[in-house]
Amino acid sequence: MFKGLILQKNDDGTTHASFQDIEASRLPAGDVEIQIAYSTLNYKDALAITGKGPVVRHWPMVPGIDLAGIVLNSSDASFEPGTAVLVNGHGMGEMHWGGLAEKARVPAAWLTKLPQALSNRDAMAIGTAGYTAMLSVLALHRQGIHPDSGPILVTGANGGVGSFAIALLARRGYHVVASTGRTDKANRLQLLGAKEIIDRQSLGEKGKPLQKELWAGAIDSVGSHTLANVCAQMRYGGVVTACGLAQGLDFQATVAPFILRGVALIGIDSVYAPKALRDEAWQCLAKETDPAMLSTISAEIPLNQTIEAAQDLLAGKITGRVLVKVGA
Ligand code: NDP
Repeated sequence: MFKGLILQKNDDGTTHASFQDIEASRLPAGDVEIQIAYSTLNYKDALAITGKGPVVRHWPMVPGIDLAGIVLNSSDASFEPGTAVLVNGHGMGEMHWGGLAEKARVPAAWLTKLPQALSNRDAMAIGTAGYTAMLSVLALHRQGIHPDSGPILVTGANGGVGSFAIALLARRGYHVVASTGRTDKANRLQLLGAKEIIDRQSLGEKGKPLQKELWAGAIDSVGSHTLANVCAQMRYGGVVTACGLAQGLDFQATVAPFILRGVALIGIDSVYAPKALRDEAWQCLAKETDPAMLSTISAEIPLNQTIEAAQDLLAGKITGRVLVKVGA
């Protein structure tokens, strides 16, 4: 038996979340069984746990889109028992039981060996948010946006992805401008490395197709009008990465920034990112993550507080990342 958070669908379509003792025989098929040490609570997990978004596609479901732990047993020779591993995405917490439980079983192809510099706790303090932020930073770099290109805007700045994006960009020497609705937390954003703070209201309403050219690059986790306005404010040849929908799934923009200013819009997907890109991102995170920054960004909770924390996350009451300690 192991403890875990189980989501069940009620007859009226709502979601029931409860902590249960689960038979190990109920674990889904996979090559590798993992003793989970830490998981995290992401926006997607909060939608799944509260039932406020159609995240779960098979019931019952253990939520948790990421996990870090130790291999207990494996039918794949590349993962011996005792190996420290992490998993992000691949439909965990949506179609395959995820990380908010003491055990998981997954296909070997989903696993990343933990870089030596990172503990299980570090890996999940970074979690999917930090990994997605790094995928975004790597995308800007690949598109030729370097620290001397000009200012980089980060939206959703006080969120998990935004906080990491600020810290990672600042460490690489970029001039980072943070857009937030919580300007009272400006000090926190400056500590992470933001040089300027703007109020997200200036981006949140429908705007003109082309606006004053401000940014060389942008990392957006907000979507909707915010993303459209960010595109409209890019300098000639600027690059925007889009990974999220905290404001909305819609994107009511014109092609003007793309055809008149050569702006590039790059989609970021952490769930099915190819293995080489995952490994590159985690190796960079191991090198570039400052332990002091991790404690600024992440707050730890035990597994049995995740339902309450999910509600707080969607209510915008949480700053930064929620690290979930699963093991004893
Ligand atoms: P968080 O909830 O931690 O942060 C989201 C932030 O967005 C908030 O902190 C807030 O920042 C801002 N925000 C919230 N609501 C609004 C609004 N109505 N208008 C404008 N800004 C708003 O989430 P994460 O950082 O973990 O994830 C951000 C997004 O990225 C989510 O949509 C998530 O699903 C997505 N995501 C996508 C991934 C992928 O693979 N593509 C991977 C990981 C996340 P502030 O208070 O500073 O204004």
